[in-house]
Amino acid sequence: MTPHALLDALEARLVTAPPPGVSWAYAAGFFARHRGQLLLHLRAALRPPVASEERIITLNMGLGRDSLAMLALLIEGQLVAEGRALRPADVDAVVFSDPGFEWAHTYALLPRVRRMCALHGLRLIVLQKPDPAVAEVYLRQLPLPGDPARAEAIAARPWREEEAAITIEERAEGGWYHLRPGILEDYQSRQTIAARGSKDCTVNHKIEPIRKLINDLALARFGVGNRAWGALVRAGQRRPHLSLVGIAADELPRLHLGHPQEGGDGPWFVTEAYPLVELGVSKADEDTILIRHGLSHARKSGCAMCPFQPVGWYWALRETDPEGWAAVVAYERVALARNPRMFIVGQAPIGEAVAAWRAKHPRATVEEVLGKTYARCGVG
Ligand code: SF4
Repeated sequence: MTPHALLDALEARLVTAPPPGVSWAYAAGFFARHRGQLLLHLRAALRPPVASEERIITLNMGLGRDSLAMLALLIEGQLVAEGRALRPADVDAVVFSDPGFEWAHTYALLPRVRRMCALHGLRLIVLQKPDPAVAEVYLRQLPLPGDPARAEAIAARPWREEEAAITIEERAEGGWYHLRPGILEDYQSRQTIAARGSKDCTVNHKIEPIRKLINDLALARFGVGNRAWGALVRAGQRRPHLSLVGIAADELPRLHLGHPQEGGDGPWFVTEAYPLVELGVSKADEDTILIRHGLSHARKSGCAMCPFQPVGWYWALRETDPEGWAAVVAYERVALARNPRMFIVGQAPIGEAVAAWRAKHPRATVEEVLGKTYARCGVG
């Protein structure tokens, strides 16, 4: 039985026939409030966790408040995943997959995270994008979308020469783990924009590179790559590797149990844990944790053209990063040339949308705008 099915059965039972002294409304509210935590506790009960010696564990570092809170708790020895306390030594790597166009405030945290990891014996691996010059030549030579020769040209990926990068760190630095160039250039070459309805930006620029890294980490430790590991999991001989994802306890819509053993359609070789949900750490609680590590100034992380960010964030980009803003305007212009309705927000080009937003919020400051969070992609 999957944790979802078990939780649904429990909820149905306790709401229709609540224990003495408990109203059905209270029971229903309890399940609504604590759904994520209950789900993860049930999962831990159904499948007792295995030790880190038996699988790869990565902490997905997005350089935002959620994943920084996870790192802080790990360092303090307070992080829990699948019902088990984790120490820094249990984690194979803290991984930041760089999509190539994060906000400047996000990149500015990287040296700090590097120091924290070094101090506590954690292996920080930054999956960088390929050299922009190499990517630029590659993109320039790609046949246009619709041309049958494009698929083969895409697969060439000159930055993924096997001999050029031997160690995991060398590969990470040279962009080997990425199948695509920087996120903005990737979309621009396809004459389209990242859209809320599709998760392909998260999958292509965050999730897949991390999974390729897990393959190499598992080969190095166990001599078994992802495909074979997945077959062993399916045969009941191994447990899936574990990725720790930073989602706060009050962000439950982002929680997704995607492993096939839990009824999901994800791969067999890896599953995810959501330590902040397990611990009941909400967005507000994160501040207390981050203050202890001098990180309370950390902001919401994300790509500077993220389709989830409010219009005000684009205004802040225009004010703080003229070059980045010009790149976003150009990226939308290319998409609009192919599809005149492909606006980044609403029904007008981004320049007009930002001007209209500013007219309505003439007193807003960059600090205020970027100090507010928003719902975003589910990589942590
Ligand atoms: S959802 Fe936003 S932050 Fe996440 S990968 Fe896509 S563009 Fe970047």
